[in-house]
Order: sequence, then C-alpha cells, then structure tokens
Amino acid sequence: MLWDTHMHSAFSGDSDTEPELMVQSAINKHLDGICFTDHFDYDYPNEPDEFLLDFPAYQHKISELQEKYAKTLPIHFGVELGLQPHLSDMHQELVQKYPFDFIIGSSHVVHGMDPYYPGFFDHRKEEEGYLEYFESVLENINAFSDFDVYGHIDYVVRYGPNQNKYYSYQKYSDIIDEILKKLISLGKGIELNTGGFKYGLGHPNPCEDILKRYHELGGEILTLGADAHKPEHVAYDFDKIPDILKTCGFSYYTVFKERKPVFLPIP
Ligand SMILES: [Zn+2]
Ligand SMILES: [Zn+2]
Repeated sequence: MLWDTHMHSAFSGDSDTEPELMVQSAINKHLDGICFTDHFDYDYPNEPDEFLLDFPAYQHKISELQEKYAKTLPIHFGVELGLQPHLSDMHQELVQKYPFDFIIGSSHVVHGMDPYYPGFFDHRKEEEGYLEYFESVLENINAFSDFDVYGHIDYVVRYGPNQNKYYSYQKYSDIIDEILKKLISLGKGIELNTGGFKYGLGHPNPCEDILKRYHELGGEILTLGADAHKPEHVAYDFDKIPDILKTCGFSYYTVFKERKPVFLPIP
C-alpha cells in the first residue's frame, strides 16, 4: 500500500482530532506509514494565533506515538509551513531547531489574504485571483526554499467562485512552468494532495496536468497526502493514486525520512 504524508491533528488550529486516532485510522486502512504535518502559519491574517503550533508538545506527542506503534506503523514527524515572503528568516531558524523528517511549504495566504475567505474574490476576478496566487507561490519560493515539497500547488481553485470549472493548467502554464522549473532546479518536490477530491474538484491538487508537466520537466520527487483533519479522511481516495501516477509518468513516489527522499514503487 501507500504512505499518507500530509495530515493534521489537534495540534493544528483547524482540527480537533487526537493524533492517536489518525494513527489507528492509518492502521485500519493498511497504510505503510504516515507523516504528521501539523500547521504552522505565522502571521495569519485576522486570526494571528489560529495556526500557531506548540512545537515542543507536538514533538513530544509524536515521539510517544512512534514508540508505542514502533512495531505496527512507521510514523514520521513533519510540519506544514504557511509561507509568506517576510517570514523566511523565522522559518529558517525553525527548520533547524526541530528534527523534522518532512517539511511541506504551502501557500495559504496570498498577499495578506486567505482565498479560503470569500473576501478574497470580492475584489478580484476569479482568473486574476488564481494568477495572483501562482505569482505569490513563486515569491514564496524565491524568499525561502528550505522545505522538501511545495504543498497543494493549485489549492486556490478549491475556493474560487467556480472552483475548477474554467481552470486548467494550460491557462496558467507560463507561471506554473516557472514554479515547476524553479522547484526542480532547487531539487524540491511537489505533492499529490487528494484533498481536491474531497472538495469535489474531481481532481487532486495540483491537477493531473501539472503533475504530468512536473515529470516532463524532469521532476522526480512526488509525495502523497490526503490532507486529512479527521480520521475518516486519512488516505482519502488513495485507490485513485496508482492510476494517476502511471498516467502522469511516475513509476515511484517519495517519502521523506530525516529530510532525505526515499523512493518507493507504486503498488
Ligand atoms: Zn495546506
Ligand atoms: Zn494541510
């Protein structure tokens, strides 16, 4: 089976789930391993304390679970950093301070606004909002790149007025290619986030055409995650993954251990 290496627990501001329940769900679903990637979004707009993370308590809890489930399920210690260009020094210090296995760098905030809130699209046409999102991804990478993969690259389409109805890779190919080439030149990966299926997009984030393009351009590092915040969403729609990966040209996927990529065959 597969590893789910993007999931949240009660250490994240938007989850109430005891971490152990995520472990038990992963065992019930016969996963080969998991990685916790709780949120740390410093300077989050409107609610600055919402996505802070108690790192010592989090680290302690995960190592407790690693011990308890040592014979049953490999559990990795990760984090999902909410990137914004002005936070790069703080993030740099943080990634050196804790022994993470895996770091996802994500864009949740675009120029001080989260597209999750309807206000973002009040002042922008959908197409402009999507483009601005991709531009800010590039700005984030230029400011800070000590992560392992960039999270859910086209996440913004979950929240647009028409979601992905009029969206395609081709429409934004110039900026998306620039992002992918930059990531590849830095030796960084992307993820296949099945949260897109959960949001009714009918596609993962990013969509298959972006996964395919990343591979075409020479990208090899692709991690898998359902972005679950509840036990029932662990490995959400993972049965779709083998076909997607093969269609997009991948014959293996990636898991990070102590920040080093390990390549695993697709079942
Ligand atoms: Zn995220
Ligand atoms: Zn997440």
